[in-house]
Amino acid sequence: MRILIAEDDLTSRTMLIAIVKKWGYEPVAVSDGEAAWEVLRKDDAPQLAIIDWNMPVLDGLDLCKRLRKIDTPDPPYIIFLTSRSEKDCIVEALESGANDYIIKPYDNEELWARVRVGQRMIEMQTATNNAKKALAHEATHDPLTGILNRRAILDSLQKEISRAMRQGTLLSIGLCDIDHFKLVNDRYGHQTGDEVLRGFVSTIQDSLREYDLIGRYGGEEFLIVAPGASGSEEVIYERLLTRVAGQGIATRSGTVSITVSIGVVELRGTTTLDELLTDADSALYRAKNEGRNRVSYA
Ligand SMILES: [Mg+2]
Repeated sequence: MRILIAEDDLTSRTMLIAIVKKWGYEPVAVSDGEAAWEVLRKDDAPQLAIIDWNMPVLDGLDLCKRLRKIDTPDPPYIIFLTSRSEKDCIVEALESGANDYIIKPYDNEELWARVRVGQRMIEMQTATNNAKKALAHEATHDPLTGILNRRAILDSLQKEISRAMRQGTLLSIGLCDIDHFKLVNDRYGHQTGDEVLRGFVSTIQDSLREYDLIGRYGGEEFLIVAPGASGSEEVIYERLLTRVAGQGIATRSGTVSITVSIGVVELRGTTTLDELLTDADSALYRAKNEGRNRVSYA
């Protein structure tokens, strides 16, 4: 773990560098508050900082206040190390966002123990952040296919509709339904069915452009959100249709061939999300009625 040491006094700084190294940490040393700020504002900044109060350019207290204004999930753990021993100073530093306060001259053992406390807090914070990220991912992604789930793709669609209206750009959506998917499950079992869904998703992903979005809308229904120029949507959906029909999906039960029906609708004027989905649904229904394995435009 790296530790930032901000201390203007050369002797103190040298001693701190040596002792922190002895404890197995990697010191990053600076001699004023502004230099400390430059280090700590970076993305890969040390997570623990031992800072002096009286320093040139920017003092420890102002540095601390500035750091606490940054909205980040992993703020640095700040230990003040200063000869200011007055109660008022201790209170002011802690109120400004310092995590700990040690008065010089300090005891090595005590400083070590307090650095260890900081390390434990940082580890807890990292674990919490990782758990939050995992939860956020779980809440927005389909566990089987890894793409956006229904709620997340609809959220994205709403954002894309607003953006398209604001910027006057085009947007189309494609509601895709695997033809006779129930037969796949009946004939090969659900594990193979799952593999077909995953294989289908990777075929979609290969067919889409970088900025197109895809989500699992229902069991074997998928929603494509494609922002962009008029006419381009035809290319996307026809290409997808051809690819799905042309290449079988390798599964534990052998290669399974499927086809897909797609209902496509383009955003026009002030269409709402509900209207778009209803139109896409009707187009999909028509594609099914007209014999499946085709794209139908609303
Ligand atoms: Mg000083």
